[in-house]
Amino acid sequence: MRLPAQPPFDPEAIPTDAVVSRGGRELRLVWAGGEEAVLAAETLRLRCRCAWCTRDRLQERFPASFEAVAVTKIDEMGGYAVNIGFSDGHARGIFPWVYLRDLAREGAAPPAEDQTPRAA
Ligand SMILES: [Zn+2]
Repeated sequence: MRLPAQPPFDPEAIPTDAVVSRGGRELRLVWAGGEEAVLAAETLRLRCRCAWCTRDRLQERFPASFEAVAVTKIDEMGGYAVNIGFSDGHARGIFPWVYLRDLAREGAAPPAEDQTPRAA
């Protein structure tokens, strides 16, 4: 089991715009460099790194999905992170901007690496 390292603070990871849209189902982020990303609320909920979610993962009772979950609040924390609240009542997660940018890039990565030939 490998715990994610705490990402370093990177001022460039702070978006210029963070908008909750589609009734909380998505978080749209825009960075100064022109990069844009849409993170699904379910992705954020699944990737919550708080102590409770981490414990549930260790005990193998963390849900595999959070269907229809929505973001209900997003509060800035000290300039480097946001606290996100979800419609399932979970609001303990602190999401550093660096982490959200990593998640956004992960989701936006083209599937080039695992393109397997369809032949045979
Ligand atoms: Zn959590």
